[in-house]
Amino acid sequence: MTSPCIDIHSHFFPAQAPNFAQKFGEQSGPWVTLQDHGDGTGMMLLGDKPFRPVHSALWDAKARVKELDDNNVATQIVCATPVMFAYDAPAEQAAYVASTYNDLALAMCADSGGRLKALAQVPLQDADLSCKELTRAMRAGCVGVQIGNHVGPREMDDEGTIRFLAHCAAEGAAVLVHPWDMLGGERLKRWMSAWTVAMPAETQFGIMAMILGGAFDQLPTDLRICFAHGGGGFPYLLGRLENAWHRRDIVRGVSKHPPSHYLNRFSVDSAVFDPRALRLLIDTMGAGHVMVGSDAPFPLGEEHIGDLVRNQPEVSPTDRAAILRDNANSFFRLG
Ligand SMILES: [Zn+2]
Repeated sequence: MTSPCIDIHSHFFPAQAPNFAQKFGEQSGPWVTLQDHGDGTGMMLLGDKPFRPVHSALWDAKARVKELDDNNVATQIVCATPVMFAYDAPAEQAAYVASTYNDLALAMCADSGGRLKALAQVPLQDADLSCKELTRAMRAGCVGVQIGNHVGPREMDDEGTIRFLAHCAAEGAAVLVHPWDMLGGERLKRWMSAWTVAMPAETQFGIMAMILGGAFDQLPTDLRICFAHGGGGFPYLLGRLENAWHRRDIVRGVSKHPPSHYLNRFSVDSAVFDPRALRLLIDTMGAGHVMVGSDAPFPLGEEHIGDLVRNQPEVSPTDRAAILRDNANSFFRLG
């Protein structure tokens, strides 16, 4: 029997999603919808275009719990698929979308016998509305919030985003930062480059903005914040950034310390798909700052959830238990 794990990075889409295109019009979109083929498979649509082939674990709590059982996942944290964020829509519409999806996420969790926990989404383009929805969603049962790593040109050192993150710290809400709205434009159209090249760059950008833009210097140290996909390119390229920080003053931004100083301020998930990358991640971040994250139930997620961590012989039993479960228990206060 394999060791049970807590999976902190997975996605959902509600079966009963409202038709936001009808409510708000296509000009605020494109809005995401689900085509359920009725045979356990489906297609997510963005506007009228196919976005991603999916299966019923995405929307059906019973099918999801069966996958958890098959993978020995004790608890799984679910959050929105980033195309649901609506950061480009008017803020009042995005607030409505967020509260609707958050309630539907909690309904799916309620159907899971306690195995699924939800992260909220917020209208990050408006800090006041984000704080309001975060407070509401936490009281309704969410264990934290997922945000995208930027809102257009506003990076994670944006004044509104910092204010929202301070609110998360005050409310005791854990934060997962997910890459989205990828840089690269037309060049990303081949080979799923948006996922394989640009997503890790976006995550790296998010961590860098928090360091060099002074967000970590301004925010309380008890903010619990985790970056998806092993922190993207950041852990691998930390040396390059550290060297640049020391050699060129234009790199430093408003940061008080070199980048490596801030490694104890955030966590990352384990979605790196290679034992060598996982070793580097643990070496760089420390075993206390890595948690299992699978990106289930999507095609590019970890196929056997937690096995990369379970099958890493160099990791001590204590560190393995921390990465598989203990870190997530305290990060999300699962109790
Ligand atoms: Zn993801």
